[in-house]
Amino acid sequence: MDFETERIAKLVKETDAQTIVLQFPEGLKRYGPPLALQMERDLGIAVMLSGNPCYGACDLDVTSRADLLFHFGHAPIPRIQVPTAHFIEVRNDTDVIPITQKALSVVEGHHIGLLTTVQHIHKLEEIKRELESQGYRCDIGCGDDRIQYPGQILGCNFSAARAVNVDEYLYIGSGTFHALGVGIATGKRVIVADPFLDRIIIPDTETIIRQRHGFIAKARDARSFGVLIGTKIGQRRSALARELIAEARSHDYDAFAIRVNEVTPWVLYQFPADAYVNTACPRIAIDDASTFRAPMLTPIEFEIVLDKRSLSDYVFDEF
Ligand code: SF4
Repeated sequence: MDFETERIAKLVKETDAQTIVLQFPEGLKRYGPPLALQMERDLGIAVMLSGNPCYGACDLDVTSRADLLFHFGHAPIPRIQVPTAHFIEVRNDTDVIPITQKALSVVEGHHIGLLTTVQHIHKLEEIKRELESQGYRCDIGCGDDRIQYPGQILGCNFSAARAVNVDEYLYIGSGTFHALGVGIATGKRVIVADPFLDRIIIPDTETIIRQRHGFIAKARDARSFGVLIGTKIGQRRSALARELIAEARSHDYDAFAIRVNEVTPWVLYQFPADAYVNTACPRIAIDDASTFRAPMLTPIEFEIVLDKRSLSDYVFDEF
């Protein structure tokens, strides 16, 4: 795994930094202590580890007074500029060609859109060449200003998928959330090729949509809504939250804003409401739905409750 220690040392030297913070996402946190010890020893500076949960590049630990922040495991979000923050993307070098070849057994279309997360982004051109050598046509779309690389998607942004008009998509990566989002956003089939588990999955968008319709139906009986505003730098949507509160009140609901850094059942337990609307990370409402005692809606789902959008126009929340 490449933690780019030479680049970090160079940046520390160039800026004469005396204190740095290393921030890792959950899956990489265990690499933090040895790296921090090594850097203190080699660079002679103070190194702190960010201990807060971290799930994306939207979440930069900028609250410390450190000279520099090194954020590992994600690509920058171009829309968010923090001069003291540097991204160490920690690309993965797993060979993705075998899983690509395996995926071909379920590919039905001829024109394929390639998608992935930053971990495998440097492999997309190689995959494209492989598929083209087998007679397929491939496109890698460019996303909007929240997306750093062609073909890259986030759990809150599928713009690189929408940028291409293809028969279906091949997503290289693990988990099904991103693929479900792309499937619902585009109405196209998405094949997940997981190079770690050597597994091909075609996520079932209908099941997740049915589950979400269940939460929406339950929220129709609510009288009070807590509207969550994320305080992480790349999750703040205060204006949207204000609009939703105004809309809710115009429909005679009680609605109040809750500023929150980590959306957890315990935090919400302190602020009871019949349902919540989450304007922070869109994944929370979907992935963690069962952990909350009241329905947790996305802003899109709240529009359906308010009859501003029909159920048939259901999509995942993006920004
Ligand atoms: S808002 Fe959520 S999905 Fe988007 S980058 Fe942050 S953690 Fe990922």
